[in-house]
Amino acid sequence: QTHFLSLPLQAKMSRPVQARRLEGIDKNIWVDFVKLAGTYAKVNLGQGFPDFPVPDFLLEALRQALGGNHMLHQYTRAFGHPPLVNVLAQLFGKLLGRELDPMSNVMVTVGAYQALFCCFQAFVDEGDEVIIIEPFFDCYMPMVKMAGGTPVFVPLRPKPPKDGNLMSSADWQLDPAELASKFSERTKAIVVNSPNNPLGKVFSQGELELIAELCVKHDILCISDEVYEWLVYDGRQHIRIASLPGMWDRTVIIGSAGKTFSATGWKVGWTVGPDRLMRHLRTVHQNSIYHCATIGQEAVAQGFQRELKLYGKPDSYFVQLPRELQRKRDMLVQSLVAVGMKPIIPEGTYFLVADISEFKSEVPDVPDSDEPYDYTFTKWMMKNKGLAAIPLSAFFSETSGKNHTNFIRFCFAKEEATLKAAIDILQKWKEEKTSS
Ligand code: PMP
Repeated sequence: QTHFLSLPLQAKMSRPVQARRLEGIDKNIWVDFVKLAGTYAKVNLGQGFPDFPVPDFLLEALRQALGGNHMLHQYTRAFGHPPLVNVLAQLFGKLLGRELDPMSNVMVTVGAYQALFCCFQAFVDEGDEVIIIEPFFDCYMPMVKMAGGTPVFVPLRPKPPKDGNLMSSADWQLDPAELASKFSERTKAIVVNSPNNPLGKVFSQGELELIAELCVKHDILCISDEVYEWLVYDGRQHIRIASLPGMWDRTVIIGSAGKTFSATGWKVGWTVGPDRLMRHLRTVHQNSIYHCATIGQEAVAQGFQRELKLYGKPDSYFVQLPRELQRKRDMLVQSLVAVGMKPIIPEGTYFLVADISEFKSEVPDVPDSDEPYDYTFTKWMMKNKGLAAIPLSAFFSETSGKNHTNFIRFCFAKEEATLKAAIDILQKWKEEKTSS
């Protein structure tokens, strides 16, 4: 009998197993709130995904891909399926007014999530600082930390709206001096997310110019998360920071077919940028994911072919989707106002943030708890009203989150019936409030 076989079967490991880079980043708002919403909520306006079907032309493209060339079930080119990188190069070439090489200026990723991950791994070293504008899509912070970097936060500060008006996401602005003060020799990159999740803010030309000027002055990179680029309302324009002077050479644009074609489960994303930067993203990609699923890329390529032909025309999905979502935004705004929440009108995205400070007396105090009010409120609303949302302080750093506990985020990319069910809940709630 060998020595090995004489060891007890239930011998346990005793050494610590967690890599240091995971310290302090184990909490994840989505894991907790998706579970709670599944248990309690009748209507889920929490997590950001459409519950309406993907457009017919995309489904048809997927059907064709499934039943057509059998090679579409095998690996494709590692850095992006050729038909997809070709059409992305054509479209973004047109939008940016520059010739793009599909093979070196575009890379396909597993959703925008992997695109972000590639950027932080490719560019951030131990000790590098990355500027993040608050509130922010929550994964930026742990991803910077995992790469060994230090996130440096700069807030969008709300300005009170004019008498009686509802606040707009445009009322949340950067203070130019404060922003400038965050740039230092250690700064490697800034993350810009316009339109912004969670506020729905669409950064103006002036705001982007301010950021661009600082990027050029301090010679730093810009990671531009533009996953909601097609979802802008009230005639506003999405401006691509990479198109501003001096920015193409230092910017990686990130996009997502999940948001573009209302198919978040497909997890097809992309990056666009100069080869000088893209080559390092390819290094991370080839040493982690390597290939993305072929079928989804083929169908998304067909979807973009269609959109390229219909660009700017009334039948274009990029024209129809925002029009439909703007109407849904306005429906939800009205009922939130009726129940006494103060919505901040988003200029873009499919999220809407609402002020819940007037509801403090409705929600019982949780004794001996240091849970922020927006968390307590959201859980209470799920359990008692059956309506799910997400607490806004989850989109801030720990320090600033403490100052932003009076807001929650709703997603309005939902079927008419889902929104109506949410509105019914709000209506009933309002009646209860007025009769008590
Ligand atoms: N960036 C932002 C701002 C997002 O809101 C999301 C999705 N919620 C992503 C990136 C990730 O996109 P994907 O689902 O394509 O990975």
